Amino acid sequence: MERVVIVGGGIVGACTAYFLALLGHRGEIIVLERDPSYRFASTTLSAASIRTQFTAAVNVRMSLFGIAFLRSLPERFGTEADIGFHEGGYLVLAAPEQAGNLARCQRMQVAEGADVALLDPPALAARFPWLEVAGVGAGCIGNRNEGWFDAHALLTLVRRGAIALGARFQAAEVVGIEPAAEGFTVATAAGERLFADRLVNAAGPWAAHVAAMAGIALPVEARKRTGFVLRAPLAGAGMPLVLDVSGAWIRPEGEGFIAGIAPDPERDPPAGEDFAPDVDLMEDKLWPALAARIPALERLRMVRAWAGHYEMCTLDHNAILGPHPGLPGYFHANGFSGHGVQHGPAAGRAIAEWIRHGRYVSLDLSPLGYARVAAAHPLPEDAIY
Ligand SMILES: Cc1cc2nc3c(=O)[nH]c(=O)nc-3n(C[C@H](O)[C@H](O)[C@H](O)COP(=O)(O)OP(=O)(O)OC[C@H]3O[C@@H](n4cnc5c(N)ncnc54)[C@H](O)[C@@H]3O)c2cc1C
Repeated sequence: MERVVIVGGGIVGACTAYFLALLGHRGEIIVLERDPSYRFASTTLSAASIRTQFTAAVNVRMSLFGIAFLRSLPERFGTEADIGFHEGGYLVLAAPEQAGNLARCQRMQVAEGADVALLDPPALAARFPWLEVAGVGAGCIGNRNEGWFDAHALLTLVRRGAIALGARFQAAEVVGIEPAAEGFTVATAAGERLFADRLVNAAGPWAAHVAAMAGIALPVEARKRTGFVLRAPLAGAGMPLVLDVSGAWIRPEGEGFIAGIAPDPERDPPAGEDFAPDVDLMEDKLWPALAARIPALERLRMVRAWAGHYEMCTLDHNAILGPHPGLPGYFHANGFSGHGVQHGPAAGRAIAEWIRHGRYVSLDLSPLGYARVAAAHPLPEDAIY
C-alpha cells in the first residue's frame, strides 16, 4: 500500500488526486491544502480561459486534452456538472512584423489538431466591425476549442470527484520535507509528521518554497497579475477574447468584460505575498491600449480590480513536470506560468500515469521534465499574457 501525498489542493493537485484515484492507485492519496477557502490560490483568482494558441506544441496538446476534459464533465461527474463553459474563441492579433510568426504558429497549431484560422486586416475588419485594425498585420481566431469557464466550479467538481473515488483532502500547511528511507517525512505546521512513499509538489506560486524544503532549486516565482472588471457601451455577445499587439487582453464576462495587461518588466518583481491590485495599470497602460484597438472602449468604466499570482517559470515560461532526477518518489507539477487552469487536467493525468505505470501513457510530457532545468536548456513558450 503506497501513500501519495500531494502538497497543494488547487486545480493541479486536485486533478492529480482525481486521476490517481481513477487509475486505481493502490494505497492512500492525501492532498494537504493549507487554505481550503482557496482565497489566494491562483486557480480561484484566474481568468479561467482555455486556448490552443501557444508557441510550443506540447502546450497545444495539453490544451486539447483540457478541452476534452471540460466536455467530459457531465459523463465524469453527473449531468449537473456545469462550469459555464463558453466557447467564445481567442482572437490573437499580431503587429505587421510579427505576422509571419503568427502564421508559423497557426500552422503548427493546426498540425497538432487545433481549429484556428488566420485573418488578414480586411477580413478582421469585416468579421469584427468594432475592431480597429490599424497597426495589425494579421489575426488568428480559434473557431473551436477555446473559451472560458468558472475555474472555482471546475476545482469543486474535480475535488469532489477525487474524494468520491477515495482521495482525502486535509487542511494542513506543509513546513518540512525530509527524504527518508524509500520516501519522505512530511511535517505540518500543526506538528503532525506523516510518511509519504511519493510526494507531489502542486503548490502553485509557492512551489519553490516547497521544493526548497526537499533541497531542490526550482526556477518558479510568484508574479502579480491584476485583472479588471469593466463595463462599456459595447455588446459582448459573440465577442472572442481579444489579445492585442500591445499585450492587453479583454473578454466578455456577465454583463460586461474582464481585461488585463502584463506590467512593465521592471514593475514585475517576485510578488511575495502582495495581492494588492495594481490599479494604476488601468490608466497607464490598459485603457489607452483597449481604446485604441476597440474604439467603443474609449468610454469604459472600471467596476473593480483583483490580483492573483502567476507561478512563473523563469527559465522558459513552461511547466516543470514529472519525477525529479536524483530524488526518487518526488514529483514536480509546477511553473505553469499563467496557463495552469487549462493544463491542470493534462498535468494531473500525466503525474498519475507516471506514479501508476512508471511512464507517461496518454501524452508524452517528458519535454517538460526537470532535466531541462538542470541542463539550463529552455523550452520557450512565448504566448504568455
Ligand atoms: C490573474 C490570473 C489570470 C489567470 N488566467 C488564466 C487563464 O485564463 N487560464 C489558465 O489556464 N490559467 C490562468 N491563470 C493561471 C492559473 O490560475 C494557474 O496556472 C493555476 O491555477 C495553477 O494551479 P495550481 O493548482 O498549481 O496552483 P494554486 O491554485 O495556487 O494551488 C496551489 C495551492 O497550494 C497551496 N499551498 C501552497 N503552499 C502550501 C504548503 N506549504 N502546504 C499546503 N498547501 C500549500 C495553496 O494554498 C494553494 O491552494 C491565471 C492566473 C492569474 C493569477
